Formats: sequence, C-alpha cells, structure tokens
Amino acid sequence: MKAAVVHEFKAPLCIETVAQPQIQPGTILVKIAACGVCHTDLHACHGDWPVKPKMPLIPGHEGVGVIERKADDVHHLNIGDKVGIPWLHTACGHCEHCLKGDENLCPQQQNSGYSVDGGYAEYCLADANYVVKIPANLGFVEAAPLFCAGVTTYKALKISEAKPGQWVSIVGVGGLGHLAIQYAKAMGLNVIAVDTGDNKLALAKELGADHYIDYQKTDPATHIQSNYGGVQAVICTAASKSAFDSAYQSVKRGGKCVLVGLPNDALPIPIFDTVLKGISVIGSIVGTRQDLIECLEFASAGKVRAIVQTQPLANINQVFDQMLENDIQGRIVLTLD
Ligand code: NAD
Ligand code: ZN
Ligand code: ZN
Repeated sequence: MKAAVVHEFKAPLCIETVAQPQIQPGTILVKIAACGVCHTDLHACHGDWPVKPKMPLIPGHEGVGVIERKADDVHHLNIGDKVGIPWLHTACGHCEHCLKGDENLCPQQQNSGYSVDGGYAEYCLADANYVVKIPANLGFVEAAPLFCAGVTTYKALKISEAKPGQWVSIVGVGGLGHLAIQYAKAMGLNVIAVDTGDNKLALAKELGADHYIDYQKTDPATHIQSNYGGVQAVICTAASKSAFDSAYQSVKRGGKCVLVGLPNDALPIPIFDTVLKGISVIGSIVGTRQDLIECLEFASAGKVRAIVQTQPLANINQVFDQMLENDIQGRIVLTLD
C-alpha cells in the first residue's frame, strides 16, 4: 500500500510502498479515504516532545474510511461501515481511568500516528473497540477533522465548565481553534477569538466569534481584562508559550485556563495570583469515545462544520511547511484516492 513515512526527526516524509497491515484479533482494516493534518503530526515528525514516537512512522490520527476487513471476533462492526480512527488508538480497558470512562487518561494507551502507525496511508489497522462510526450524513473530508480537532476542543470546553452567556476566549484560530469557536457558540457561550492576520479574523467572524483580537497588534490579556473584566475560561490551542502566558492572564477570578496546545515549554504560574484569584489551570487531552460521538452529533445536526481544504497525500511536506507558517485556514485534509 502507499503511505507517507517519516524515517528520522525533521526529515521530509517519503511517499513509499509499504506492507499492508495484517488483521489481528480485535482489529479492523480501514481503507482510508481521507486524513486530517493535525499540528501534533508535525510535532511527531519533528520529535518535539519528551515522549518520542515510533520510527519509522506513518503519522495521522484523523483517518477516516470504510472497513474493508475485520477479525472473526469483531461482531459490533460490519464490513463497509464508515469509521474514523482517533488519536486514542487503544486503551487497556481495566485501569482506574478506563473503568471511570476516562480512557483518554489510560497510562497504557497507544496513539494512532505516534506509538502505532496512523492514517497517512491507503490502509490503517485499528482496534475495533476504539473506532467511532461516522454519521451517515457526513462526508469523509468534513468528518476527518472532528476525530481530533473536533473532539479535543469540544472536550476542552466541557472541562472549562463555562456556562451559556459567559465569555470564553479561544486562543489560536487554527485546525483546533476554528472548531472550538463553533462548539463554544453552539453551547451558548460568548467568544473572543485570538490569532493574527486578516484571514484568521475573517474566519473567526464567519464562524460566529463575537470579538477578535490580533495578538500582534493588541495585547490580548490587557484588552480582555480592561474590556470584559476577564473571561470565565480560556481554551489555549496555540502551540506557542507566549500564547499560554497571555491566556493565563486573561481569565477572571474563579476562571479556568484550559491548556490544549502542546509547545514543549513550561508555564511558570504565579502562585500568589492563582491562589488569591481562585484560578484553575487544567490540561485537556483529546476526548473519550463518548465525547467523540457527541462531537460528531453536533456536526451531523449542522451546528458545527469543519472548514477544510483537500490535498493529495503526496503533498504532505508542503502542507507541513504551510502549517509552520501558520498559513492554513481551518484544516487541511489529505485525500487517498
Ligand atoms: P494549527 O497549526 O492548525 O493552529 C495553530 C494556530 O495558532 C494558528 O492559527 C496560529 O496562527 C495560532 N497561533 C500561533 N501563535 C499564537 C499566539 N501567540 N496567539 C494566538 N494564536 C497563535 O494547529 P492545531 O492542529 O490547531 O494544533 C494546535 C496545538 O494543539 C498543537 O500544539 C497540537 O499538538 C495541539 N493538540 C493538542 C491536543 C490535545 O488533546 N490537547 C489535540 C490536538 C492538538
Ligand atoms: Zn490531533
Ligand atoms: Zn486503561
């Protein structure tokens, strides 16, 4: 099968013919139709994080397609079903976190396109228990980004516990952020979007953001504190340390700063302010299968729609270059035709 493979950190990906994965008990073989390009894939290929991915690696954790084969012991899915293979490739199913339904926190988890091969390929092997079906009225290309960008931001907003009518700020109007704006609006929240440039401004407004701050022209924290008295919650999706500093300073007393973007940096938090203002700083990692089902239902009902541009798999290196330049509107989805 054809796949995009990275052999060493920071090297360009190679389009190669590799062996098709073999069905194992409990697995399905998905013929991939499309796979979104998440900034995490770029971190993986660059070896940015303390925990390193397998090498060589087929990245991709927004792979969607049709089940072509399944193991004899898989009974709840059928050949021909449309499914997506999320970041949470598999979890143990019996640890404290799995038992509580927080499988995204399982210490034994495997991750698609990171610890196991992912969706930048014609075929991808998946754990039948961890794929989620795509609603019938959603196409592959529009569904793909929901399998990471969608579920991650939907979950982060749930974790923020922001209530209808309250203000939240969404820092970064990229693959994640452009969906975060829409989920926040669908939840009845007021949204301040933070990014830079007129293209991101136009996108944020089109998606329903109530206010936009260009962080290169206006300091978001100062503006938000003086005009809004701070936000109840901030969802920081930017892969930049300065964005986190500013996000932290944007929340009001009793507010929550939800960390989502993954720059390999520390966020020094002033203990005095955090204590006296009762601020929560919370990490949020993707979502569970149930979160994913709910997040897909929003899209199926027409309340959320991923903004996508397609590119053939062979163009992945140009797509990464574009991502490094912060020059993507919404999500780029690779097609495998
Ligand atoms: P992206 O490249 O599509 O978007 C990032 C956006 O941030 C861009 O629009 C960019 O212009 C903007 N930005 C950069 N610096 C900024 C700043 N200082 N202030 C405001 N905006 C700024 O990336 P993405 O796919 O949305 O992923 C973003 C980050 O989230 C990555 O680090 C990725 O690894 C991480 N991520 C985390 C999870 C999770 O579960 N926590 C899941 C998926 C992705
Ligand atoms: Zn992702
Ligand atoms: Zn577990």
